[in-house]
Amino acid sequence: MEPRMSAVASIDRDDWERDRLAALQRFDILDSPREEPFDRITRLIRSIFGVSTGIVSMIDGHRQWYKSADGSDRSEVPVQDTFCRFPLASGESLVVPDAKADMRFADNPNVTSGGVGFYAGVPLRTTDGHVIGTVCAIDPQPRDFSARELKILEDLALITMNELDLRQRATVDVLTGALSRRAFKEEGARAVALASRHHHALACLVLDLDHFKSVNDGFGHAAGDKVLADVIKSCVALLRQSDLIGRLGGEEFAVLLPLTDRTQAIEVAEKLRQAIADLVFNFDGQNLPVTCSFGVAVLDGATPDIESLLERADAALYAAKQAGRNRVVAAEPAPEAIRTNARRVLKAGRIIFNNRASLVNCTVRWMSDEGAGMDVTGSFGIPSRFTLAIRSDGFECPCEVVASTDRHIEVRFT
Ligand code: GH3
Ligand code: MG
Ligand code: MG
Repeated sequence: MEPRMSAVASIDRDDWERDRLAALQRFDILDSPREEPFDRITRLIRSIFGVSTGIVSMIDGHRQWYKSADGSDRSEVPVQDTFCRFPLASGESLVVPDAKADMRFADNPNVTSGGVGFYAGVPLRTTDGHVIGTVCAIDPQPRDFSARELKILEDLALITMNELDLRQRATVDVLTGALSRRAFKEEGARAVALASRHHHALACLVLDLDHFKSVNDGFGHAAGDKVLADVIKSCVALLRQSDLIGRLGGEEFAVLLPLTDRTQAIEVAEKLRQAIADLVFNFDGQNLPVTCSFGVAVLDGATPDIESLLERADAALYAAKQAGRNRVVAAEPAPEAIRTNARRVLKAGRIIFNNRASLVNCTVRWMSDEGAGMDVTGSFGIPSRFTLAIRSDGFECPCEVVASTDRHIEVRFT
């Protein structure tokens, strides 16, 4: 149960959450691939404090998403069960030496299951004062955490924030020469606008190195870096001057191909895939095979902007990984009219059903005049008709589900 708030406090809270989510959106980090600078921080948390788990997380409308988690296999959790919503709400660090003995947490499912006995969390605060996530240390055993240790964790949160700021400002990735994620999206948005205006074809490839973790684990980080740099060099050599290549994060890259239709884009991806598979790497006298998987999507009515184009290419990439890797999969053209003129948004929403007796939190990702798409922690149990409410906009509308996966629902307004 959420505590009841007066109408005024609740409106302030809605504004606060809306501005906070807008700040989070500016970092464009949710659902990005793993990145070494953040993995380094969670490794440090474990080794400095001797705890089982270190986490760098971002807190979305409905979930806590892990940018890096060392010691946990999960990538996100529903926000209502988290310890981190306390530092999020208060803006202050929180240390819980013994969760079982703390009234606020004794009933928490993570505590009763024995997963969390100790917790220390520090908010990640932007320069303009919004809390967008947390850095935290967790252990199943209760323990003390000295003022000096908390100071170290707070410094790690500041380093994380610096890293996020640097990442946002960079336009070129130093290792590979590819555009940074932000620069790629900015240039990509221009290419999409141009192609839409002139009804030109535009295709997008997303590629991800296969089992790249084993390169780092087997031959070290420098070897991994060399592989990344050479793979991108061989791609650039095969692309046109007018193509754009960007590093979305980690070992995941995207290519925009102007004036290229679906069939041609598949050919380009296939050519790049083959060239990468043909590269020869030799480390410690051992030959190391390197391959990449590719997802392809093209601009059409269902992909009005660079974000949705990337999303569809990414879904195809996921299918390529599932199908066995080292292959190209192209997204089927999608005829969804509800996405025409869709706007990207990031809003905390509520799915209301069962005569308003059931509420499920969601994050609304896009909206058009006809419908909306939203993320949930699980779509199981959500009926095919419900009401969508976005409190910060005073929006409420009955909807009908037109498509859903276990974490995403698309609806038509009725
Ligand atoms: P999959 O085939 O499913 O993509 O497996 P994977 O091992 O490639 O994927 P996973 O996401 O598990 O691992 C990606 C690895 O890439 C982990 C991370 O440390 C490494 N990595 C990310 N950025 C860099 C970098 O800049 N340099 C090096 N050397 N490694 C990096
Ligand atoms: Mg990979
Ligand atoms: Mg990856």
